[in-house]
Amino acid sequence: METTKKDIRALTKEQLREFFVAQGDQEFRGNQVYEWLWSKGAHKFEDMTNISKDTRQMLQDHFVINHIEVDQMQRSNDGTVKNAVRLHDGLIVESVLIPTSKRTTACVSSQVGCSLDCKFCATSRLKRMRNLNPDEIFDQVVAIDKESKLYFNRPLSNIVFMGMGEPLMNYNNVLKAIEKITSPEGLGMSPKRIIVSTSGVPKMIKKMADDEVKFGLAVSLHSAIDEVRTSIMPFNATFPLADLREALEYWYAKTKNTITYEYVVWEGINDSKKDVEALIQFCKFAPSKVNLIEYNPIDDGQFQQASNAAIEMYISMLEASNITVTVRRSRGKDIDAACGQLANKS
Ligand code: SAH
Repeated sequence: METTKKDIRALTKEQLREFFVAQGDQEFRGNQVYEWLWSKGAHKFEDMTNISKDTRQMLQDHFVINHIEVDQMQRSNDGTVKNAVRLHDGLIVESVLIPTSKRTTACVSSQVGCSLDCKFCATSRLKRMRNLNPDEIFDQVVAIDKESKLYFNRPLSNIVFMGMGEPLMNYNNVLKAIEKITSPEGLGMSPKRIIVSTSGVPKMIKKMADDEVKFGLAVSLHSAIDEVRTSIMPFNATFPLADLREALEYWYAKTKNTITYEYVVWEGINDSKKDVEALIQFCKFAPSKVNLIEYNPIDDGQFQQASNAAIEMYISMLEASNITVTVRRSRGKDIDAACGQLANKS
């Protein structure tokens, strides 16, 4: 659907207020409309019942309200829900609701496709089409919050930016979305319940530190040896571990926030003692913990989850060095909703 009208949700509250003044109306009308758009999630001007009919028509003449639609929803037998989300231009991204006994976590996408080329990740096979706008990220969270209330009788409690795309390559929009998610006019969630996961863009990690962001940082490390990391995450050739390390030291110095390293152990790739020793060294640069993620196969047989013995070696060596390590079981594998499986297959 081609339109030249502007998306009203691209306007800040201040710009909306100014728009109404320019139309000969009052500033507070901007606040009312803003509330409809962001707190009440209105998708149509006609739903804005405390705004006069003429004003609604005037808005209709100037603007559109772009919004996402949950195109298809799949439920896993472990309770995980995957949404295929249709954007206003017809492109699709996926987001996932992950329930545990105490929490409901939303895993959201930040880009359509991904420009990185991590060899083990299904999303890397989709070309990066475009960045998501702040409202498209926000809407994924709202959709999952609604599903959480519907299926689990509780609101969403946590958000991880671990869906499709590299959040730090769409930093401004991710930040704006998080502002909306955390502001009382949006969802009022605590930033402490939000984690941004990155494959490690040093310059942007420093920028996050300078911006004094309040949410958590996770880095998809997978190897602390340059050669190995570059072979599975070719992007590491441009941003080698020494640069990543320097950025993470800067992050910790500024924010005092512990870093989580996400790490999959693969057979024959990073399952030797030497690999664990390198990881332990890397963990010493800034306070951190390690999250061992189960590998979710992406159908090419190139990567195999390492043996239990290798995982046990990681756990015991990390613990012996006083590094906190957790093992994260996969969720939603049966519906291709687990880490690295998001590829618009359904
Ligand atoms: N681009 C960001 C966020 C998306 S990926 C990042 O790289 O962090 C979210 C997490 O899933 C990352 O830690 C990623 O390395 C991991 N992942 C990707 N493919 C996977 C797979 N097939 N199995 C398990 N984890 C995978």
